[in-house]
Amino acid sequence: MVDLFHASRGCRFDCYPCCSGYLGGREFRPRPLEKVVEELTAIDNNRLYIVDNSLSQDRGWEKQLFIEMIPLKKKWCCHPIDDDDEVLDLAAQAGACLSIRPSSISRISFAAESSVTMTTGLA
Ligand code: SF4
Repeated sequence: MVDLFHASRGCRFDCYPCCSGYLGGREFRPRPLEKVVEELTAIDNNRLYIVDNSLSQDRGWEKQLFIEMIPLKKKWCCHPIDDDDEVLDLAAQAGACLSIRPSSISRISFAAESSVTMTTGLA
């Protein structure tokens, strides 16, 4: 079982036919990281699904989020994150298990604890 978690709301992109912008707003609204860490710390389960539409809308905030998550020792997966070596490495250190790469939805990026990124094709 995983617990669901929101670190931000909204999406500033407008991909067809996605309705996330309509449902959650077309403005990216990241939560204050101290609140995010406080809430994550209070969750006993160390397995999470971060349900944010896209964490890759503010790279600075995204990297800081992963840095703050490293000491929490959670295992998590999420929607797309930046296809960037530094971001992927921080995500791996923060416990990322699986994320779909935004640059290619036909590939899965697997960020293991070793910080190694592997890709595999989807059917
Ligand atoms: S980036 Fe993702 S959530 Fe945002 S509009 Fe595109 S598909 Fe939807």
